[in-house]
This record gives sequence, C-alpha cells and structure tokens, in this order.
Amino acid sequence: MNRFEYVRPESVADAVKALAGVPDSQALAGGTNLVDLMKYDVARPSRIVDINRLPLRDIEETATGGLRIGALVSNSDLAWDSRIIKRYPLLASAILAGASPQLRNAATTGGNLLQRTRCYYFYDPATPCNKREPGTGCSALEGVNRIHAILGASENCIAVHPSDMCVALAALDAIVHLEGPDGQRTVAFGEFHRLPADQPQHDNTMRAGELITAIELPASGFASYYTYLKVRDRLSYAFALVSVAAAFRIEAGAIAEARLALGGVAHKPWRDRGVEEWMRGKVPDEETFAYCAQALLRDAKGAGQNNFKVELARRTIIRALRQASAATPQDQSNKIVR
Ligand SMILES: Cc1cc2nc3c(=O)[nH]c(=O)nc-3n(C[C@H](O)[C@H](O)[C@H](O)COP(=O)(O)OP(=O)(O)OC[C@H]3O[C@@H](n4cnc5c(N)ncnc54)[C@H](O)[C@@H]3O)c2cc1C
Ligand code: SF4
Repeated sequence: MNRFEYVRPESVADAVKALAGVPDSQALAGGTNLVDLMKYDVARPSRIVDINRLPLRDIEETATGGLRIGALVSNSDLAWDSRIIKRYPLLASAILAGASPQLRNAATTGGNLLQRTRCYYFYDPATPCNKREPGTGCSALEGVNRIHAILGASENCIAVHPSDMCVALAALDAIVHLEGPDGQRTVAFGEFHRLPADQPQHDNTMRAGELITAIELPASGFASYYTYLKVRDRLSYAFALVSVAAAFRIEAGAIAEARLALGGVAHKPWRDRGVEEWMRGKVPDEETFAYCAQALLRDAKGAGQNNFKVELARRTIIRALRQASAATPQDQSNKIVR
C-alpha cells in the first residue's frame, strides 16, 4: 500500500495550488485510468487532488460561435449533448466508439486527453519501460507489439495514444485551456500531445502544476460530411487498432476543405496538413482517396507484429474518406447510418 494525501479543493485556484505544492501530485477526475494505474503500482502520487467539486461541468457557447466544454463534463454528457450531436457529430461519434457506457459516464473530458498508453509493458512494473522508468529500455521494440505505433515512433518508445475522442478533437482543431501557477494559457490541440523522441515519459506539453480547465471547439463542426471509423479486435470495449476521423466541406462537387486525423497509429493523434491541403479543389473520388492514404502513410513502418497495421490503415483511411464524402458516417455500432 502506497500512502498518499487526499485533498478536495472547491476552486480552480486552490486546485492549482494543491497540484503545484507537491511535485508528484495528481488530479483525480473520473478515476477510470488513474485508479487502475495506482492499483498496478505504475502511478504513485503522494498527493491526490480530487477535482470533482470544481465548477467545470458546463458546455457554453463562445463569442466566436463555438463551444467551450468544461474539463469535468463526462464523456457521456458530451456525446449526448444536443449541440454536439447537431453541430459536432464527428466528436459525438468518436466518443461513443470508445470504452463502455459505464466508463463514459465516469470518464471526463480532461481525463480523456491525459489517459496513458495501453502498452502492456507500461502496465507491468516487472518489465523495462522508458515511459514508466526513463532509461530502462523499451520492452515492446522486440516484444509483443501488435497494438503499437507505425508513425512517429522512436527507438525509445513505440507506444500509441489510446483515445478516440482526441482523434476527433485533433481533426476539429480544438483548443486546450490550461490554468497553472503562472496563470492561464491555451494550446492548439495539435501541439498538446507530443511524439516520444528521447523523452517518452512525457505524453504532452503540459507544465508542472497545470490543470486542464476546458476544451474549446471552433465554430466549424463539419456536420454534413464526416465519419469516425474505428477498427478494433472486438466491436465494443476495445481500443482502436486504427481509427480515422475524416471531415470535408464540399462545394460544387469538389473538396473545399479536408480534415483527416488518425488514431491508434502514433503517440498522438496523427495529422498531415500537407495532405489535407493537397485535397483542396480535388474531386472526392477513389483516385484522390488512394493518393491521400499513400501520402499519409509514406513513412509508416511496423515493428514486427504490428506490420499489418500499415495496410489496415491504408484501407481504413480510404473507407473513411469514402464514407465522409458520401455523407454516410459510421455509427458507433459499426453500421452505416444516413
Ligand atoms: C476497460 C477500459 C476501456 C476503455 N476503452 C476506451 C476506448 O475504447 N477509447 C477511449 O478513448 N478510451 C477508452 N478508455 C479510457 C477512458 O476513456 C479514460 O480512462 C478516461 O477518459 C479517463 O478520464 P477520467 O476522467 O476517468 O480520468 P482519470 O483517471 O481521473 O485521470 C486520468 C489522468 O488525467 C489527469 N487528469 C484528469 N483530469 C484532469 C484535469 N482536468 N487537469 C489535469 N489533469 C487531469 C489525472 O491526474 C490522470 O493522470 C477505456 C478505459 C477502460 C478502463
Ligand atoms: S512502447 Fe513505450 S510504453 Fe511500451 S514498453 Fe516501450 S517505452 Fe514503455
């Protein structure tokens, strides 16, 4: 049993103070990941800052026509909010493709961004893992790596970020609102998570003592042409092997704007703005989709057991682009809906 201090602040300012006061303190939101990590002896916080009493459960309109989602809004409340369903169905669809109803009821918006990788070795303190204990090595490189990264990996870590919700947030160009000892700041979603490089222990660019307070969605939700397509070993209650969030603005039969983010393939939701730009003005047809998949995966490579993911990703990208451009999004039970 590891001893820890438990505090339950009532305001964001007090929570930030409590988090910054002890180096290995951690926020507790829904607890669906953190509590597991503590049970596995992977996380050993000396102070738990329970943030559940903070006033961060609202979804509000922004002055620029978007929405500001409080960090404690549950994944269920977010996915079933009528404004999200109507204006950001890509986000609702991605959330509903993840976990189970019970987990989504407990899991929060902020916690979803900060959930840790599902690499088997990360959860097993008996094995070397650079993410858990920097400098010990990466057991997955030559081990069981069926679920691991094919893009952006390093010789120090080939883990993937497991979230579905974050793939949609990346495609939508969301903004992360943070508050820490030095005040408030915002980070573009694409800059929030990071690639492993030589510091795989850091999943993101948050600073010590910072709290996620909200996620902001820009006005454009791509509600007409979109899909979230998740391929996994089981139809529910399984993390993505590959997922694709695709969205278009289509005008006069041509692509006016394209968004494409991949999940399950890298240490962060994977976007390539060069490929999205290339699609502008093109007709959304099989030739365009094939070129796009090829370009997105030009540097993809497996580590052995996950080699199959490169071809799986190619096919999933093409299928997602086809669905999105035809306005026939995938529903969370894997049926095509209109
Ligand atoms: C069996 C199982 C299956 C799952 N399947 C999927 C899936 O298919 N797809 C998917 O996307 N997810 C899946 N999940 C993961 C789930 O979505 C996450 O565990 C959840 O979103 C985490 O949210 P939480 O509020 O419970 O976070 P917590 O467990 O409370 O916290 C997670 C981390 O975030 C930190 N934190 C939380 N909130 C804040 C904040 N506001 N500011 C700063 N730090 C914060 C905590 O300190 C901790 O480090 C699954 C989980 C389980 C257990
Ligand atoms: S892939 Fe990353 S998380 Fe998994 S064992 Fe290697 S260093 Fe650890």
